Amino acid sequence: MQYDHILIRFGEISTKGRNRKQFVDRLKKNIQLVLQPFRMLTYTSTRDRIYIKLNGEPYSEIKEKLKPVFGIQSFSLAVRSKSELEEIKTAALETIKEAAVPGDTFKVSARRADKNFPVPADELNREIGGHILRNTEDLTVNVRKPVYDVRVEVREEATFITTKDELGAGGMPAGTSGRGMLMLSGGFDSPVAGYLCMKRGVEIEAVHFFSPPYTSERAKQKVLDLAAQLTPYCGSMLVHIVPFTAIQELIHKQVPENYTMTSTRRMMLKITDAIRSKREGLAIITGESIGQVASQTLHSMQAINEVTSTPVLRPLLSMDKTDIMELAKKIDTHDISILPYEDCCTVFTPAAPKTKPKLEKVERFESFVDFDSLIKEALENMETIKVSHSEESPFAGLL
Ligand code: ATP
Ligand code: MG
Repeated sequence: MQYDHILIRFGEISTKGRNRKQFVDRLKKNIQLVLQPFRMLTYTSTRDRIYIKLNGEPYSEIKEKLKPVFGIQSFSLAVRSKSELEEIKTAALETIKEAAVPGDTFKVSARRADKNFPVPADELNREIGGHILRNTEDLTVNVRKPVYDVRVEVREEATFITTKDELGAGGMPAGTSGRGMLMLSGGFDSPVAGYLCMKRGVEIEAVHFFSPPYTSERAKQKVLDLAAQLTPYCGSMLVHIVPFTAIQELIHKQVPENYTMTSTRRMMLKITDAIRSKREGLAIITGESIGQVASQTLHSMQAINEVTSTPVLRPLLSMDKTDIMELAKKIDTHDISILPYEDCCTVFTPAAPKTKPKLEKVERFESFVDFDSLIKEALENMETIKVSHSEESPFAGLL
């Protein structure tokens, strides 16, 4: 008897009907990429589980690599036994004996995935539980809050027994939900917004607006570093850097000061949408949260959003700043975002931006000049950079 397998559970994916095979295949591929350095591992998948046979590779290291992989609900080190009652009982007993100390509590949760197996789950629980109680000292059953949940999954080809679960990252496998363009600034919010969309399987490309000489090379590098920080979850990422100086200068020349913020956001959104269309993306993602600043009131959002009918995803919409900061810490973007380099918006921020801009007004202000040719020029001069994690990206080659 040996803990020589890892059993991976995916929860939510199991409910995806016909798409399930595609999801499982993608998840398996993502896992294989993360675990590429461990060459002896072998993989098997069924419709609701992935099994990895260790073949001597170290579980403690593999465990850490599996934790950020989206689509995994939980995973466990497992013992494999034949699907035969006596063997299962022996294996379960040894499993708990290895883990437990006197005084511990346990329960048995059997699952009969192979419906042809002659013993139903309830009876299995009793058989195995009884066998454990008879052959150990000082272990008791506690069905509500046991120290060990001896999970027994009976399948046709084999039975897997686990006692301890590791929490996976949850969400959906990277790359299963289509592509979105993340409007990435140097702030705290947008990287967190990107992370949350990736968690739902969205493949992200970043769009960043910079305005030299008002903003420095270091501000641009900061954004690339932020993008790189997101790659352990998704693989390498494309960052589209759009020169925005000429447009911002024209806005400031042409639009009354309290409407410059509204106009700036509209231009950014328009350009991002053009890039999205070229890159065959399905959505735009921002770090906006209702009411956080003047440009994020519902009135503002309505006036800004009017330039496109593409879905704009705002995963932080209802979150407080403190919660966003917590998440930024968790995903290690906080310490980069906190660096003081100026952003193109901060440089041009008006003293008193309108919190209730009127769509007709902003449209009229913009109508006196030819923004479209400047937009075209900005798109032509856009630079696209591929970033990956400072360590070798676990997903390199995936995207
Ligand atoms: P963040 O912390 O993400 O910078 P914020 O609270 O500073 O957000 P704003 O500056 O109003 O809020 O920006 C709102 C959203 O607009 C950002 O979350 C981001 O998605 C987008 N955005 C702002 N500035 C830029 C930029 N220079 N390039 C690309 N997108 C930007
Ligand atoms: Mg900002």
